[in-house]
Amino acid sequence: MEIFKFGGASVKDATGVRNFMAMLQKLDKKEVLIVVSAMGKMTNTFEDLVKAYHQNETNLEKHLDKARLFHLTIIENLDFGQNASILDELKTIFIEISDFLQKNNSTDYDYIYDQIVSKAELISTRICSAYLAKHRVKHQWLDVRKCIKTDSDYRRARVDWETTTKAIQDKVDTSGITLTQGFIGSDNYGRTTTLGREGSDYTAGIFAFCLDAEKVSIFKDVPGVLNADPREFEETHLIEQISYKEAIEMAFYGASVIHPKTLQPLQRKGIPLLVRSFLDVNSKGTYVGSELDIVPKIPCFIVKKHQILISISDKEFQFVMEHDISEIFGFLHQYKIKVNLIQNSAISFSLCIEDNFNNFEQLMAKLKPNYKVKYNENLTLYTIRHFDEEAMRLLERDKEVLLKQRSRETAQLIVKAT
Ligand code: ASP
Ligand code: MG
Repeated sequence: MEIFKFGGASVKDATGVRNFMAMLQKLDKKEVLIVVSAMGKMTNTFEDLVKAYHQNETNLEKHLDKARLFHLTIIENLDFGQNASILDELKTIFIEISDFLQKNNSTDYDYIYDQIVSKAELISTRICSAYLAKHRVKHQWLDVRKCIKTDSDYRRARVDWETTTKAIQDKVDTSGITLTQGFIGSDNYGRTTTLGREGSDYTAGIFAFCLDAEKVSIFKDVPGVLNADPREFEETHLIEQISYKEAIEMAFYGASVIHPKTLQPLQRKGIPLLVRSFLDVNSKGTYVGSELDIVPKIPCFIVKKHQILISISDKEFQFVMEHDISEIFGFLHQYKIKVNLIQNSAISFSLCIEDNFNNFEQLMAKLKPNYKVKYNENLTLYTIRHFDEEAMRLLERDKEVLLKQRSRETAQLIVKAT
């Protein structure tokens, strides 16, 4: 049994859906469970709908129309014909959405979010399933909410592994092809839940774990895991193999490789993960497994923007002591400010932070009465895993470096954004 996961970009239009089927036919696996994500950027569109509903806006139709038209265009371009049952299915789902919005009297944003945003995953897999059926690709469409059982912490639901394992083993026919949704599940009351944005990779990991899959393939719009983000670097190279640990390490520093949450169930059972291109069946992609050395062993670059470097010292030039540091971290925790790097010297304590919740001013207000605080905003933090002198030189060229830190495998630089 293998697990495939196709992301939203792979099925963002009719050409994508055709390519999806062509890939399945070329790969020709008889025993496979396929997770397909919401089409294109539809998760965002449904999120916009929920926001508008929550803010009592009157233009809900605008968002509904956008989503409806997007899917209708794909269906039309897939030549289903005027009387295809997929059109009725689409209509029914949109009636369910409108009904829900009309009748709902809950004020729990996260609950409403899960009931609405989940529809994008259901529509996507219904369309893909109808297309496969039309071309006689035998498979079973599965409502994943019957399998992935979670608590009721909407938008960040945690998996109940015991019931989920049982449900998956009960419901998935491991001798054929199953097509299902990612990212969504259901709680004890039968209400829909979601596992957090980008959750469908995690769904693939959950199925792999529960079915003791042979391997998982995540199909992406890049050839695999690259040593740098092609939007930031002119030259990038494919990483051929990497360990779970290295992938987790890279995600920690900010690489958008594979989420540690996805890797964790795979690592526990030693199930290999392949990250590969959805455009090229023959591409080898990146192989992620246990205890592997990174191949090729080249520097990997990770960029984090919008960083702030603060340096904190005592007003009387005293040492910054443990109780000071403990107090500072208390504030950071309170204001949900992320710390990406720490450097300590005799009289000052430097932190590279990320203020994702706009709480920086409040933090300053807490620090200023007791400490001397200096800071620099709009900086970029570069992390190089497996650095060498050449990579360091390349990165430092033409840049104003404010701070540098090195350990055996990892170098970090904070520079002024250019
Ligand atoms: N469609 C969801 C999202 O975009 C889940 C996923 O694609 O992983 O976050
Ligand atoms: Mg998606």
